[in-house]
Amino acid sequence: MAERMIVIGGDAAGMSAASQARRRRDRTDLEIIAFERGHFTSYSACGIPYWVSGLVEDRDELVARDPATFRDEFGIEVRTRHEVTAVDLDRREVIVRDLDGGGEVRAGFDTLVYATGASPVQPDWTRDDVAGVFGVQTLDDGAALIDWLEGKPSPRHAVVVGGGYVGVEMAEALVQRGLSVQLLEQADQPMSAVDPDMGELVAEAMRATGIGVRTGLTVTGLEERDGRISAVVTDEGPIPADVVVLGLGVRPNTALAEAAGLPIGPSGGVRTDRRMRVPGVPGVWAAGDCVESLHRVSGMPVHIPLGTHANKQGRVVGINIGGGYATFPGVIGTAVTKVCELEVGRTGLRERDALEAGFEFVTVLAQSTNRAGYYPGSRPMTVKLLAERPSGRLLGAQIVGWSEAAKRIDVLAVALWNGMTVDEMTALDLGYAPPYAPVWDPVLIAARKAVDALAAV
Ligand SMILES: Cc1cc2nc3c(=O)[nH]c(=O)nc-3n(C[C@H](O)[C@H](O)[C@H](O)COP(=O)(O)OP(=O)(O)OC[C@H]3O[C@@H](n4cnc5c(N)ncnc54)[C@H](O)[C@@H]3O)c2cc1C
Repeated sequence: MAERMIVIGGDAAGMSAASQARRRRDRTDLEIIAFERGHFTSYSACGIPYWVSGLVEDRDELVARDPATFRDEFGIEVRTRHEVTAVDLDRREVIVRDLDGGGEVRAGFDTLVYATGASPVQPDWTRDDVAGVFGVQTLDDGAALIDWLEGKPSPRHAVVVGGGYVGVEMAEALVQRGLSVQLLEQADQPMSAVDPDMGELVAEAMRATGIGVRTGLTVTGLEERDGRISAVVTDEGPIPADVVVLGLGVRPNTALAEAAGLPIGPSGGVRTDRRMRVPGVPGVWAAGDCVESLHRVSGMPVHIPLGTHANKQGRVVGINIGGGYATFPGVIGTAVTKVCELEVGRTGLRERDALEAGFEFVTVLAQSTNRAGYYPGSRPMTVKLLAERPSGRLLGAQIVGWSEAAKRIDVLAVALWNGMTVDEMTALDLGYAPPYAPVWDPVLIAARKAVDALAAV
């Protein structure tokens, strides 16, 4: 009889695990069933801002594989609108509720993949009786927001609450739809994924594109007129709004795991070992936004919910269940985003992370340009580096600038991943031609500056 693999969660991590396992074991050997409580499988939440902006026209473009494709081409059974409500480890069963048809079933498993993702932080001031307030975690959320934006009366004033990368991307999307947008952030700068000095550059650029960036204020409530949102109330007074988008970060979905007794780590995600097995629970694996990962620089467990990790971790799970050997080596926190034309990249530790981890370090800020100064389209680029003292090992990097800025972070990520010192980095053989970089690339200028800073202390 075929072994049975059950997957909870039908997106990046869960379906990567299912697909990889299937590549290695056929259906006579391994039966695979995935339960997904939403309507879609293998969808790109990352694409929602570009769908809302209109850049991506059709929702289906954001769906990589639907349940019929999984069934017909991969022999993977996906049951959408089925929510797993409990995991019974003693009986090795999951309890599943059919959200449309009603009723509950039990399904036994030999192998379980826990890939439930994360859910947006819900502030205590949201109200069910006020229409026009949206999260953007799922395609259903995106569809609801687009319906509201296209409905009558046409919203004109948007407020985005939270200045993380999702909030920033949504502010851009709403501006591109022609709305006047205010982005509200409790901290003194948006983009807390970078240090405050770099976040300030983001705030300046956003303001220059017409987005109102209001920092250092706290949202306390909502006002409505006839059940529709009319204002966001803050400690600095009300701000008019016909639509509100929440971008306050996410928390790992661990309720089922906790109830079943799976170990939860200090960062709040499910704990796994290098092969993505849940320690102490044979046959149970976890991956994606619901787990915590090892930060390779600080050595600490972290919860960094990104699609890039979810796909890799799911693949590791699938290879292992399929009979192969794979490990997930941890993360260094590399991420990129953009707001209008401004690009932002980061990797490794911010100053506060490096302090918390107990490092001694220097920081440098290098101003340069994306192209040779004389070449048309040359724009400023700021590179920030953190280097350990006295070793000179790169600990973290951030870049803010215009075209060609964000993906330059990958050079720094590779250097950091491989433990390079800033001194070694000054000799990196990076490409140069006037349309792509000044003769000294901004990365090399920053590395040279860091070497000087280390020599000065
Ligand atoms: C607007 C936005 C933009 C983003 N942009 C980027 C980006 O640019 N780059 C990047 O790397 N990442 C980005 N991300 C993050 C990325 O989308 C996530 O990291 C990724 O989707 C995580 O995949 P996952 O499979 O772990 O979790 P999810 O995608 O959350 O999937 C988990 C699935 O499990 C289902 N589920 C949960 N509980 C149950 C249950 N009990 N029973 C059945 N089903 C259940 C959920 O419905 C969900 O479909 C973005 C996210 C958002 C919201």
